[in-house]
Amino acid sequence: MTYDVIIVGSGPAGLTAGIYTSRARLKTLLIAGFEWGGQLMLTTEVENFPGFKEGILGPDLMDQMWGQAERFGTEFIFEDATAVDFSSKPFKVSAGDNVYEGKSVIIATGASERWLGLESEQRLRGRGVSVCATCDAAFFKDKKAVVVGGGDTAIEEALALSKFASEVKVVHRRGKLRASKILEERAFNEPKIEFIWNSTVQEILGKDKVEGVRLEKTDSDEKSELACDAVFIAIGRKPNTGIFKGQIELDQRGYVVAQDETKTSVGGVFVAGDAQDYRYRQAVTSAGAGCKAALDAQRHLEGGD
Ligand code: NAP
Repeated sequence: MTYDVIIVGSGPAGLTAGIYTSRARLKTLLIAGFEWGGQLMLTTEVENFPGFKEGILGPDLMDQMWGQAERFGTEFIFEDATAVDFSSKPFKVSAGDNVYEGKSVIIATGASERWLGLESEQRLRGRGVSVCATCDAAFFKDKKAVVVGGGDTAIEEALALSKFASEVKVVHRRGKLRASKILEERAFNEPKIEFIWNSTVQEILGKDKVEGVRLEKTDSDEKSELACDAVFIAIGRKPNTGIFKGQIELDQRGYVVAQDETKTSVGGVFVAGDAQDYRYRQAVTSAGAGCKAALDAQRHLEGGD
């Protein structure tokens, strides 16, 4: 069977695309991945998605989008897409033991957290090293935590941790945050949160669990050690586009190159969300992009460009 549209990815971009294509009566398969729902599944309160005056929990928002797509007939596969062949039509997407065929494809694979690249970071992952305070903060009640990074994610992680930990130290490589003012103010007003400016983590210390970090100043040679029980890495993301390498044009950082909003370098293959967008990266902009990609796929299937 050939689907009209195969959507790869199940964050706000993919699920919104599914709502639109299936509601347009296009036969739609959504390859949701083993862990469905994207980055909002790792978030608590979402306060800035329009329509929810009191805010909504990230997983609840995704559940709503999921149900909405399912209601209009989107089919779901809970496997990771492992390969694609866009060299001829119908396009092919491999997931699990199967190869699925589609007249069009929407890439909505999003982005994943970046790591510092230290051996100790991977060795101690799950033993005090984490990328998700929402998931792991409660393990560090009355303990000392370090957060690495200076963007919105780092500050959100620090605020989430401050509800449990006895102290939270944010290590940032510059002397100024890039986080939004509202979050910055909350962090500056939280007595448990302290900032260690102009510093990087050179090593995470500990054999079987995190015991501290080795720091180095970025504006001098000064090195120091800081005892802690947890290290939360929050230094941004990278696009999940490995399986598309060689099939469509990607930029140097791996983001899908889009023209005219959602079109990739292959006619009939569209992109939406963080796999392409390194600038806005919001749930609402991803959902909007998913809508655009769905409408563009529909136009393509009707014989447009
Ligand atoms: P981000 O804005 O790219 O910030 C990454 C931070 O990590 C920066 O402060 C960066 O330092 C630092 N960094 C990067 N590589 C590093 C390295 N190797 N070592 C040490 N530090 C490193 O990423 P993000 O905070 O994940 O946010 C991503 C996007 O999601 C943003 O658009 C953000 O606004 C959005 N977001 C919004 C919310 C919200 O509205 N509630 C919540 C979370 C995320 P420099 O500052 O020196 O570059």
